[in-house]
Amino acid sequence: MTSNYRYDLAPYTWSQTKSLKKGRALFTQPPMPIKCAGAPQKAMYLSCDHWRRQGRLADIEVSFCNAGQVLFGVSAYVPALQDYIERYGINVDYQHRLVAVDGPSKIAHFMVAGEDGEHQLEHPFDLLHVVPPQKAPTFIADSGLANEAGWLELDPETLQHVHHPAVFGLGDASGTSNAKTAAAVRQQAPVVAENLLASLDDRPLSAAYFGYGACPLTVERGRVVLAEFGYGGQLQPTFPRWLNDGTQATRLAW
Ligand SMILES: Cc1cc2nc3c(=O)[nH]c(=O)nc-3n(C[C@H](O)[C@H](O)[C@H](O)COP(=O)(O)OP(=O)(O)OC[C@H]3O[C@@H](n4cnc5c(N)ncnc54)[C@H](O)[C@@H]3O)c2cc1C
Repeated sequence: MTSNYRYDLAPYTWSQTKSLKKGRALFTQPPMPIKCAGAPQKAMYLSCDHWRRQGRLADIEVSFCNAGQVLFGVSAYVPALQDYIERYGINVDYQHRLVAVDGPSKIAHFMVAGEDGEHQLEHPFDLLHVVPPQKAPTFIADSGLANEAGWLELDPETLQHVHHPAVFGLGDASGTSNAKTAAAVRQQAPVVAENLLASLDDRPLSAAYFGYGACPLTVERGRVVLAEFGYGGQLQPTFPRWLNDGTQATRLAW
């Protein structure tokens, strides 16, 4: 069992991938919001690519156990990802939420949502890549600055706190609906700096953030689906389409 969501375990994930010759590999994704919504799939695609290159993929049954109901939240990127799901022969199990792991017996326990409620399911595994459920830091949730879910309650464009005008926020602790990515922070930081200075000078807040975030989905060694999008799933590509089409797996994006 491993998880790239602990950075020091990423090398262990790679050693697990390299040592698996046959059996069952499970990759999980918890309910949103999570850091970098594409990251649960990145480890899976790169592992499958390695097994394919080594001629082992046919002996490894790969499943993506996703608590959500779609492969990716922005539909423009789904066809390219679906192609890789089919190319690698991955079983995708939607509405499967990991709730417990029996390490010694190598069994993952899921709650599966259906029309008639939830039921339990056990999945034996030889390799398990876990993405843990995620929540706001307690000191933010308890700060009096948070929304009901525990994240900073900000105006989505100015990033000013909705009740405390002297407070601005950015990063993964924000309750804005952008993808929780460092790419988002890169665009939020200048907006916060500019608006904070304007606020101190009693000027109107003129800088705006439109929800940009980016998930570089590493679908195979040498190719990336560079998902870049803003609020409401609006595509916000950095490059013109003739140079890099973000909805396709491209070498340039890698
Ligand atoms: C596996 C993975 C892959 C990712 N891939 C990408 C990617 O390809 N592209 C991309 O743009 N983004 C990616 N991200 C997301 C990116 O890492 C985050 O969006 C970014 O780090 C957010 O920065 P932040 O400063 O808001 O939060 P964080 O980086 O989480 O920093 C918060 C800091 O606060 C500290 N802290 C917590 N509580 C306290 C406290 N009480 N007192 C003091 N300090 C405290 C924490 O220890 C942490 O260091 C990925 C994330 C993961 C986990």
